[in-house]
Amino acid sequence: MELMGRQSQQMTRQRFGKVIRLFAPLYLSNECVNNCRYCGFSRDNPIMRVTLSVDEVRREGKALAEQGFRNILLVAGEHPKLVSAAYLRESVAALRELTPSVSLEVGPLEVEGYRPLVGAGADGLVVYQETYDRAVYAEMHTAGPKRNFEWRLETPERAYQAGFRRLGISPLYGLADWRLEAISVAAHAQYLLRHCWKAALTISLTRLRPCAGEFQPLTHISDRELVQLMCAFRLMFPDVGLVLSTRETPKMRNGMMSLGVTLMSAGSHTEPGGYTGAGREHLHQTVRGRPVEGGAGFAPTLPTVQHPSGATEQFHIADARSPLEVAAAIRGQGYEPVWKDWDAALST
Ligand code: SF4
Repeated sequence: MELMGRQSQQMTRQRFGKVIRLFAPLYLSNECVNNCRYCGFSRDNPIMRVTLSVDEVRREGKALAEQGFRNILLVAGEHPKLVSAAYLRESVAALRELTPSVSLEVGPLEVEGYRPLVGAGADGLVVYQETYDRAVYAEMHTAGPKRNFEWRLETPERAYQAGFRRLGISPLYGLADWRLEAISVAAHAQYLLRHCWKAALTISLTRLRPCAGEFQPLTHISDRELVQLMCAFRLMFPDVGLVLSTRETPKMRNGMMSLGVTLMSAGSHTEPGGYTGAGREHLHQTVRGRPVEGGAGFAPTLPTVQHPSGATEQFHIADARSPLEVAAAIRGQGYEPVWKDWDAALST
């Protein structure tokens, strides 16, 4: 492990410099037509839901820009009616007025569905396979279009074809054996590096976190194994970005930031309206996917944290430090926090 750590650190510094890039997720909507057993936004969870208006998205984006972020990841549940292609396009366009880099983590689309989003200024697409184990995948995804394993697996290629030049993939560790997931995502990465060679690729190090629905992880990956995994990815893929989110504790994040990580989120909220309280007025509760009357007065019975916006979070974060505190921790290790990930002027 020590040798792996040293080599990974050296290789990362050589390829990326002593910098950690920062980004923030901006949740547009927690409505979803899928049932994914491990996710707080699952259709059948009776939670408080909202889809932000484009003006509210702009407000949230402004709050993030004021905190320093120039790299925003738009996240939404999969709901073709409420999170429509036109809505996504308008949201991207609104944010591009505030920040040079906008990525998406939304329900998979056809190539033709992605093109207008690239046209509006989105440059990155993140899509987690969740698990590469087909049997576990079938067990976890009990309703909705996400049941189609192949459709999801082929999403990065469709996004590339549509013009996205940053692609992010990952399993969600905690569903199947982590070594099997690691080998599978490595094979996926190798394939994408060959077939989508104009794109910059990132792999996330994403472990399950507590969320509404009380799903318990099916498998375990220890802290030490997560570090080993990160180093292995770096040694195998010297130029691939490695992402560590606020799913990990400050201690883990501080420990891993100089060993191979290149991209971190900070100050994250995993519910729509989390940065400004936007969307509070049109909150509603859903029961089995349907809005119910009087939902705004709903008292949550699920073990979930309620936030200023009132909407339910996707999962509970483990690192609640502010972006400035995270930036200070990065500086404390002799690294430079970089708020801007990508310059549109450099894309061809
Ligand atoms: S993981 Fe995504 S698709 Fe599944 S329930 Fe959550 S938001 Fe919906």
